[in-house]
Amino acid sequence: MPRVAIVGSGLGGLVTAHALTNDHNDYEVHVYEKHRASYGMDASSFWVDLEAIDGSDTDSDQGRQPSRRVRVDVPVRGFFRDYYPSLVKLYEHLDITLVPASHTISLSILSDNDPQKQPSLDTYFSHSSIQLPWLNMPFPYPRHRIGKWTTSAAICVGEWVRLGVHARWWLRQQTRNNSDTSNDSSNKTTTMASKRTETLQMFLDRHHYHPLFINTFLAPVLASICTCSLEATLQMPSSIALDFLARGIMTQQAWKVGGEKGVGLVCDKLGQHVSRWRRGVGVVSVWKHKQTDQWMVRDSEGKEEAFDIVVFATQANQAYHILRNQPSNAQPIPDGLLDTLRSFTYAPTSVLTHRQPNGFMPTDKRDWGSINVVIRENDHLVSAKKAQDSFGEPGQPMATCWMNEMMSVLAKGADLFQTVNPIIPPPSPPTTPSKSKPSRFTVPSTSPVSFARITLTPDTPRLLNQLDRYQGGTRHSQGLYFVGSYVYPGVPLLEGCVVSGVRAAGMVLQDKQKATSRKVVEWLEPDVTGWKQGHIMEWYLQGRGRQATSSRFSLFSLLFDILDYLLSLLPDEIVILAIRLWQTLFLVLYWLWAIFHVACSIIYRRP
Ligand SMILES: Cc1cc2nc3c(=O)[nH]c(=O)nc-3n(C[C@H](O)[C@H](O)[C@H](O)COP(=O)(O)OP(=O)(O)OC[C@H]3O[C@@H](n4cnc5c(N)ncnc54)[C@H](O)[C@@H]3O)c2cc1C
Repeated sequence: MPRVAIVGSGLGGLVTAHALTNDHNDYEVHVYEKHRASYGMDASSFWVDLEAIDGSDTDSDQGRQPSRRVRVDVPVRGFFRDYYPSLVKLYEHLDITLVPASHTISLSILSDNDPQKQPSLDTYFSHSSIQLPWLNMPFPYPRHRIGKWTTSAAICVGEWVRLGVHARWWLRQQTRNNSDTSNDSSNKTTTMASKRTETLQMFLDRHHYHPLFINTFLAPVLASICTCSLEATLQMPSSIALDFLARGIMTQQAWKVGGEKGVGLVCDKLGQHVSRWRRGVGVVSVWKHKQTDQWMVRDSEGKEEAFDIVVFATQANQAYHILRNQPSNAQPIPDGLLDTLRSFTYAPTSVLTHRQPNGFMPTDKRDWGSINVVIRENDHLVSAKKAQDSFGEPGQPMATCWMNEMMSVLAKGADLFQTVNPIIPPPSPPTTPSKSKPSRFTVPSTSPVSFARITLTPDTPRLLNQLDRYQGGTRHSQGLYFVGSYVYPGVPLLEGCVVSGVRAAGMVLQDKQKATSRKVVEWLEPDVTGWKQGHIMEWYLQGRGRQATSSRFSLFSLLFDILDYLLSLLPDEIVILAIRLWQTLFLVLYWLWAIFHVACSIIYRRP
């Protein structure tokens, strides 16, 4: 029976393990995970005692009902159905309960970053959402504040709506471009190459998006999702950003895994048929033995084992460090592979779980959203390199999830927050519980948990195509696979873990010529067709384009056809004028709405 070593048990590794072990036992799968306590995907999560946070317990444990607990996922691991089709299929396949998660955003500026002083947040945007089955648009509150931020809020919402329509239009054009060029390979290469080099910033500038919208709204929101700096966000390939905007955050309801165990249950189900778990055991080195032609895995306990296949389910930089340690009896690893792995760029970030709103949440509680983004005054319109920080990663916004909003089971409990990239000092450890505000639930520690996340650059699509050519191996790396959120030409999220994991497993199974009998490959059947090795970007854009023409988008398609036609008749100057008119019209409408809203609230408040 072929022996497979999977290095890492994040979702990428777990999906690969499941795909190779579910329904059959043709492979002996060993999973190495350097975290001791749990699966990599669940390693930072923790339990909350619901009775304690409901306040229904007493200070004495005597006579207490058996504990009702819920596991809080760290990080939050939310998703949107349209952007995560494979993740949704996986959860359905595993029979996982999914629950809607609140998805509202507030944006604030931290005006005083002096650690000695009380931090003060100036909230310039907060919204509820218009939620229809197919639409989830921001609907800002101007109710308690008409003032300096009203105009900027109007510009941001107006441009957000324009970008929402624009992104869908762009996605639809992918189909057209791809079908136009599908018979002409040289033309197609040129089209793809130009798409690769256009950054989000270039796209936004080319289409005259308002700088205020770009710098104070779009970049902070995307940066908090990608956990990177504002500057890096605007350097991501426009194709990846627009695809995400078209089928992700702009119009979609957010979802989460429900149930007591959170993503822990997903991990249990995915990992149940693994032949051998090596928890708390890191892999130090992987090499192909010159004589036996087998893959050797050396672990942190000094043990060496031989395998037929090795799947790297770590981040690219971690895989690089493991692969570059080659002993003398190793066959050479292709330089191109090591160069490719080394070239992916990573940004560190951290997640802090705490109960302290001051400095993390808007000062006025009416502004609290489920996600609360804070940028520093320094980050505003300046390069990350210039930011003077005492906490947090330079240029990276801080984003605090209000867990009580995200998880309905916590709704009645004391406030619980999860802050990504805390830019102010962490709150002091929990103090003695008080009866008025129940606090007896375990927050694991006051020190933040660290993560490293890939930063998307204009070079990322080229690197992905390059890495894809090494999947399954060249002569000296036969049997080597790479999976994980980064092995995917979209925003590095859970969807990429599923797609890359199933694809790698599919390649292993196909090698054995048994693919057709494997249920697992069916999860992605429509999507993986047409994925020619080394052409990951092309596969992705074509697939997305195909989905864009599906029935859900038919109304948009009709509108876009009309828009396409009208715009083709107009010279550029008129198009720019139309954009300015739209911005002005939206500004006027928004001010009218704000005045109307405030007037209503004054009248309503009168006895
Ligand atoms: C703050 C934050 C918030 C996020 N929020 C969301 C969200 O809401 N929705 C979403 O879809 N995505 C979110 N993401 C992204 C998503 O969580 C990650 O992209 C995804 O979990 C990555 O999974 P992976 O399997 O690719 O890699 P990882 O989860 O990084 O797994 C790699 C595993 O390999 C192990 N490992 C590394 N080196 C070794 C070694 N030498 N030996 C053995 N084991 C090793 C690690 O311990 C780890 O468990 C978020 C990410 C961050 C950082």
